[in-house]
Amino acid sequence: MLPRMAELRPYPLSALVRRSLTELEARGTIFDLPRRKLYTPSGRHDLRAYHHGFAASSPLGPAAGPHTQMAQNIALAWLSGCRIIELKTVQIMDTLEIPRPCIDMQTIGYNVEWSQELRLQESLEEYVKGAMLITILRASGQLEVGADDQLLYDMSVGYDLAGIRSPQVQAFIDGIRDCTAVVDRLRGQIPDEYRQYRDLDFPTRLSDTLTLSTFHGCPPDEIEKIIEFLLEEKGIHSTVKLNPTLLGPARVRELLGEVMGYEGIHVPDSAFEQDTRWQQAVDFCGRLGDKADSLGLGFGVKFSNTLIVDNHRDFFPATEKAMYLSGPPLHVLATNLVGRFRGVFGDRFPISFSAGIDRHNFADAAALGLCPITTCSDLLKPGGYGRASAYVSDLQARMDKVGAADLPSYIIRAFGRGEAALEALGLGTDDPVRSACLRALAEGDDLRAAAGERFEPWVSAAILANTEVYVAACTEDRRYSLASNQKPPRKVGSSLALFDCLSCNKCVPVCPNDANFVLETPPREQAIIKVRQAEEGWQIREEGTLRLAKKTQYANFADFCNECGNCDIFCPEDGGPYIVKPRFFGSLRDFHELAKLDGFFITGGGRVVHARLDGAVFRLDLPPMGGQASFSGPGFDLRFDADDPAASLAGEASVEVDLTHYFVIRWIRDAVFAEGQVSYVRLLADDPDAARLSAPQS
Ligand code: SF4
Ligand code: SF4
Repeated sequence: MLPRMAELRPYPLSALVRRSLTELEARGTIFDLPRRKLYTPSGRHDLRAYHHGFAASSPLGPAAGPHTQMAQNIALAWLSGCRIIELKTVQIMDTLEIPRPCIDMQTIGYNVEWSQELRLQESLEEYVKGAMLITILRASGQLEVGADDQLLYDMSVGYDLAGIRSPQVQAFIDGIRDCTAVVDRLRGQIPDEYRQYRDLDFPTRLSDTLTLSTFHGCPPDEIEKIIEFLLEEKGIHSTVKLNPTLLGPARVRELLGEVMGYEGIHVPDSAFEQDTRWQQAVDFCGRLGDKADSLGLGFGVKFSNTLIVDNHRDFFPATEKAMYLSGPPLHVLATNLVGRFRGVFGDRFPISFSAGIDRHNFADAAALGLCPITTCSDLLKPGGYGRASAYVSDLQARMDKVGAADLPSYIIRAFGRGEAALEALGLGTDDPVRSACLRALAEGDDLRAAAGERFEPWVSAAILANTEVYVAACTEDRRYSLASNQKPPRKVGSSLALFDCLSCNKCVPVCPNDANFVLETPPREQAIIKVRQAEEGWQIREEGTLRLAKKTQYANFADFCNECGNCDIFCPEDGGPYIVKPRFFGSLRDFHELAKLDGFFITGGGRVVHARLDGAVFRLDLPPMGGQASFSGPGFDLRFDADDPAASLAGEASVEVDLTHYFVIRWIRDAVFAEGQVSYVRLLADDPDAARLSAPQS
């Protein structure tokens, strides 16, 4: 556990643009996502889906959560194929202290983090910045983007009526709906060398849709009032995120315990007592649907919120009495909710879905006509955002298998229920439309052309038929059970050190914020030299050897690390990469203020390094070329030839100086500035404006 909660520091657009546009060429990655993992549209599959009438090139998205908070996360989600991006939930209390670590992905997925960690104005700016970055990447010509790439953003706002009515949250919502001023200000941050992008047609109305996130235990009348307010006073298409507790205590416990085997997970009675009951939800959804219809707006539901459970593990701080379950078991609970909800409302309301989605069930969720279909827990596993592109390719493979080129046709064909769905329309046996549809189904012809005006009702009927099939199948599917989800990631028993590790690379993509990164550096060996100033001159002694054996080293950019703990879960070694590996601060102010954390701040184009090692503060000034380096620390202020310090010592030292610190700092600095290296640290060190912009605003 680190001594102080880390705060995320938004990164200036100038450096994000520089990094993304140079990294692909230099290293074949963008924000560490390898080119082979970037989503490329097939050109043959029409994955278009609609959210409250707005088209997106695919129903896939990252769920409002750790993957959609920072501008680079949003760009990464788009790069990996997500086309409906749920922006991280914002709320009035924007100075929360979230306990750390806050994400436990050892098995199924638990968390104790629940809303934005940035100030509201910062969140707005990050979301706008992410959208601008995507627009620039699209225009860069470096990526294969569909000719008609359609991307949607969905706001997520919480948690009660008073907060949502507050001027601050209203300003956020209004800012998302007209961000012209922010866009125009940020245009100026696009670096001179990319000035051709300053006049791009950046989106200035990011979203007209909003998903309401409510506290566990929010009274149903409050939920209804909030949605009414959003519909009536904000004129915004609205979705309400509902809780799995709607299934009731008996069914939740039956599914979790008897069906899936998670006997050790306890859902407190209070979770059911305080939450909305099924009939209450049915009633307010009916009323809100009518209200939305009367206003010409969309209303939908989202399944589901996480499930509140007792904190029975020792991962989160003991102060946390409850934690929030996600992942595979939530998929079964949420799918059952979809089934039950559609049992009442049919296909009347659009359903947004987020619960244990991964590459194996995304195509099934698409067959249920769910939209958006968003994911979080799975993207926290090794591969990170790179896992998302496989969701889409698997869906495309399923579409090919059933002979569907677009999503509605896929829905009809996906589970072989097309004929049953057609029967549900009640067409007479001699109806020519029925015959044409049956023929098209059998012969692989165009279903839309065959059905004409009956196509949409046919799709709706197929959605209901598929829901029945899938709810039953996934409830019995052992892949969601405890037996399939109880093995934690492998640990090998060794401990991490500042340099060298297994170099498995897992810590880089599992970080939702892209805070961990790679440094390439040649293996090195150096005698440990200790020097002492005496009257007769410098006394030098050697004591062992300092080695750097691997050519790939791992580091952490503190500005993007919120100490969620996820890289520690998946690192095979003990200690936590974000704690043990070299940490870089983005500003001198953070370097000094976070004085309990070891780390580095590099500035002056790489010639000045501030370092804290084992709590001791050092400063290294490297000469522009040749000349003497200055190296100071506790009790000494030295000058020497940077390539051979022991032979050229000058200056003052009242203590014995361990030159190991010099070599460690120098190696790290050289690794950051090695040929072809692209990192936040290097860009900030090279760009004084960026460093200034990234410093926290007081
Ligand atoms: S570096 Fe590790 S602890 Fe920090 S945000 Fe990333 S995954 Fe979480
Ligand atoms: S720090 Fe851990 S996860 Fe990262 S590369 Fe090294 S061994 Fe792998």
